[in-house]
Amino acid sequence: MHDWLIVGAGFTGAIAAQILAAEHGQRVLVIDQRDHIAGNAHDRRNEDGILYHLYGPHIFHTNSHQVADYLSRFTQWRPYEHRVLAMIKNRLVPVPFNFTSIEMLFDHRKAQMIKDALIARYGMGANTTIMKLRDEPSEMLRELADFVYENVFLGYTIKQWGFGPEQLSSSVTDRVPVRVSYDDRYFQDTFQNMPLHGYTHMFENMLAHPNIHVELQTRWQDMAKDAKFRNILFTGAMDEFCGYELGPLPYRSLSFDIQTYRQPAHQPVAQVNYPNAESFTRITEMFHLTGERHDKTLVMIEYPQAHLPGQTIPYYPIPHAQNEALHKQYEALAAARFPHVHFAGRLADYRYYNMDQAAGRAMSFIRKLS
Ligand code: FAD
Ligand code: UDP
Repeated sequence: MHDWLIVGAGFTGAIAAQILAAEHGQRVLVIDQRDHIAGNAHDRRNEDGILYHLYGPHIFHTNSHQVADYLSRFTQWRPYEHRVLAMIKNRLVPVPFNFTSIEMLFDHRKAQMIKDALIARYGMGANTTIMKLRDEPSEMLRELADFVYENVFLGYTIKQWGFGPEQLSSSVTDRVPVRVSYDDRYFQDTFQNMPLHGYTHMFENMLAHPNIHVELQTRWQDMAKDAKFRNILFTGAMDEFCGYELGPLPYRSLSFDIQTYRQPAHQPVAQVNYPNAESFTRITEMFHLTGERHDKTLVMIEYPQAHLPGQTIPYYPIPHAQNEALHKQYEALAAARFPHVHFAGRLADYRYYNMDQAAGRAMSFIRKLS
């Protein structure tokens, strides 16, 4: 007999299970419809022994000591700072757009004027956002904003989301700032490391507690009628849980073209973005992330696509006020009808969480219970 049923063995479900089992003495059953643990962070080796992320590249970064300390109980780490180049006007320039990008794309005199204007407005070392930059009174800064908007954000965002930046919450493009510096790191978090033996290995350690029982290839829908649990945590999508009663919640999906090449390396950094060129958004090369060298190299080419419930994977909630309002209605419906079920996670909360945010959410969920 279990005290808890947790649906989903991703960051949210696995962390909640681990804390409930180890710190609260609860017996926990974790189910997942997939044939593996670790949710979208799952990694595995291909037939050549190359470690890759089945559901797209996952780079770990956080400013939360609590999250880093907690996860460090289950993995060693490998220092890794993510760097991204974007193909702009046939050149590979750093993104987030920084002083090096400016120097590569503008002539010397103009570049100096733009850098001076940025420093005067924001201060050396600061970050700004493309949406703020577009509203600047300075003509020089607005000219830069138009350039960055056209060449970095517009095409990429339309491919990724099916909408332009203005049709989405600005929190989406705010994720990728414009840097008033030469800092070419994608993230500036205090903790930037990859799990040394991969995410799946970390999750195996997390779930290896005698009070935790994991059942894979098990869908909630197939056990819901007979499930008699005092406590349930559901980390899947709310619309699916409620039988799409209020209509589908919009998600964006992806398809991955996974290629291995007979050469040790394909591109100079882990990630190359193609904002305007090509119909895909980015190519990520795994060895940069894992630190493991082979005579072959594996890349993942990402093609965004519409999400079709039941057919594709709902990878991204689409941050937009209308969608968030529908999600709130689902929350109210679920609370009224299923008061014993808790909801948390990127899908259940309909929030664009990074892994550390999903981890933090799971930790605070447990804190609120006790
Ligand atoms: P998930 O990992 O989605 O886990 C939910 C689990 O629930 C899934 O395994 C699913 O199979 C299961 N489930 C759902 N419904 C049911 C059901 N009805 N019955 C049984 N099981 C069910 N974050 C970063 O910090 N850095 C990155 O670089 C990064 N890259 C990303 C790249 C991509 C392409 C995507 C899509 C996400 C990325 N993320 C990244 C975000 C990261 O994947 C999430 O923050 C994290 O996986 C959320 O964990 P979760 O447990 O909430 O959800
Ligand atoms: N973005 C962009 N051009 C880029 C990189 C990002 O327009 O070269 C925008 C795009 O809308 C993207 C968002 O910024 O969806 C967030 O980018 P991030 O790299 O955080 O996306 P994720 O890794 O979550 O897919």
